[in-house]
Amino acid sequence: MQEKGNLSINSENLFPIIKKWLYSDQDIFIRELVSNAADAIVKMKKLAAMGDAQVGEDETWAVTVSIDEAGKTITVSDNGIGMTDEEVRKYINQVAFSGAAEFLEKYKDATEDPIIGHFGLGFYSAFMVAKVVEIHSLSYQEGAKAVLWTSDGGSSYEMSDGSRDHRGTDIILHVNEDGEKYLQTYELRSIMDKYCSFMPVPVYLTNPAEEMKRLEEMRKNHKDGEPEPSLPEPKPINDVEPLWTRAAKDLTDDDYKNFYHKVFMDYKEPLFWIHLNMDYPFRLKGILYFPKLGNEFESSEGQVKLFCNQVFVADNVKEVIPEFLLLLKGTIDCPDIPLNVSRSFLQNDGYVRKISDYITRKVADKLKSLFTSERENYEKYWDDIHPFVKYGCLRNEKFYDRMKDCLIFKSAVTDKYVTLPDYLEAAKEKHDKKVFYTSDPRQQAQYVAALKGQNMDAVILPTAIDLPFISLLESKNEGVRFLRVDTNLSEALKSDDAETDSEKAAKAEKIFREALENDKLNVKLENLKDTGVSVLLENSEEGQRMNDMARLYGMAELARQNDQTLVVNANSPLVAHLLASENEELVKKAACQMYDLARLSSRPLEAAELNAFISRTQELLDALIGG
Ligand code: ADP
Ligand code: MG
Repeated sequence: MQEKGNLSINSENLFPIIKKWLYSDQDIFIRELVSNAADAIVKMKKLAAMGDAQVGEDETWAVTVSIDEAGKTITVSDNGIGMTDEEVRKYINQVAFSGAAEFLEKYKDATEDPIIGHFGLGFYSAFMVAKVVEIHSLSYQEGAKAVLWTSDGGSSYEMSDGSRDHRGTDIILHVNEDGEKYLQTYELRSIMDKYCSFMPVPVYLTNPAEEMKRLEEMRKNHKDGEPEPSLPEPKPINDVEPLWTRAAKDLTDDDYKNFYHKVFMDYKEPLFWIHLNMDYPFRLKGILYFPKLGNEFESSEGQVKLFCNQVFVADNVKEVIPEFLLLLKGTIDCPDIPLNVSRSFLQNDGYVRKISDYITRKVADKLKSLFTSERENYEKYWDDIHPFVKYGCLRNEKFYDRMKDCLIFKSAVTDKYVTLPDYLEAAKEKHDKKVFYTSDPRQQAQYVAALKGQNMDAVILPTAIDLPFISLLESKNEGVRFLRVDTNLSEALKSDDAETDSEKAAKAEKIFREALENDKLNVKLENLKDTGVSVLLENSEEGQRMNDMARLYGMAELARQNDQTLVVNANSPLVAHLLASENEELVKKAACQMYDLARLSSRPLEAAELNAFISRTQELLDALIGG
């Protein structure tokens, strides 16, 4: 019996049009065919388990992909449930092809909306790499007859009695020009590694001609007396029970670490991980690792692999996994995710948002539990995780709300970690609601030392993300201001003494303006507690942040010279001498020297400035020793 038919689609030839959409990702044909084969086996196992079908005691389940380079075919075989001719009509002729029609209808106006999954189109993807596809199938059903289906991917197919004599299905691809590269074992192997590594049924890849050649080679080199050479037992390419499918209580730390090394090829140890397992209202399993960051220059981008029933879908699907979590590494398996739709649809899908919320919550919960019950470890990890936590707080309001009590800051004074409330409480008497920070503890050491001298603290916030992060904290904590140590410091260091003498203030201004030949210089006389400090340069916090931002965006030339203020300490004996001295020349030199020292404590001097500083120092030493 032979049957010919037309597929019920208007288009003359669907393939060229669909090919255009799928072209960029031809590789997925193997994922689709192997996952169909694995599905067929899973169904068969289920039927057998329920007693609805008989299988042999020694049945070994396998999907086998074999390459025939000479014959230019790739065959995907399984011993699953198989299909009757009626099922082929229903599932292949109608479903697969009508899926294609639907797909076309929906996407005829779309331009570059990549499809990330099935559309009832899985089978059809075979035509991306094959000019002719054959299906040989024998259903498990009693009395079923083998069926053969052939099509060239146009709008017609042929069906006839098949010759397959054991249950299951072979899909034979006669590859086209594009498909020839897949005849290379290495090429196909690497794609199967990507997509099939964790499928739930053993998957084998074989190239019989290549293997025969190898065996002959071995036989040629065979020496008398040695055992007869033979090929090694074929091994499946996949792990049918990946870690995320197993119960956390059965797993050791080493299990998690080994899985991490293998899957992400990262030789470094992960810091810690979260095993996700959710059944309701949606199913989700997975493991998320917090990687140890390498040096700054290494890209800190993570990798979160998305799976659908152990079939790899894609890396870093930001529609499903919140963007900031993409700094992590891990595997997430969502069997229910509607992958048969485009990415832009996923973005607006409430279900996907729930998944994303769930993952975010779990991550925050893990961090919180570390903070509360393993504070020491949490502090140890902080250097590696703080960019992630800060980024998460900036990107996701809910994440911030969960994490807000677990944000810690390293003190430049004590080297210990404090929370914002800790800091504010300790500073309450001296500078209420003000947080001093240093962006570079080495360069700003003078300022930190001045604070320390008054029993005050400053926290270290050195990274680019800290700027937007402190703005966030300021907006969330009313009245709290973050001040870089070289800004507004005099405010904190001022003694409660009465106001400074206005006559003296005018004199100080005059001395410094004349000495520095800058009649716009802001000079302020203050009573600072630390008598060892003579002058300080103070920037405005706003100007400071503007500069930092400009530098962050590589616009250093835009960073303007700040409206700096020179704070002169009326309590410093040196300043008292300066104001009282009659020696005009010495006063001038001393003023310049003090100004340069103040500058030096926040930045290196320019070449010319440094030269002037050095020769002036010589002169002053001369005067000191000689005079
Ligand atoms: P989907 O897998 O999303 O249903 P496909 O186009 O991949 O869409 O496959 C269509 C249908 O064809 C499957 O649902 C299944 O019923 C049938 N089918 C495909 N491959 C096989 C196979 N190897 N064994 C049994 N049935 C298969
Ligand atoms: Mg499929």
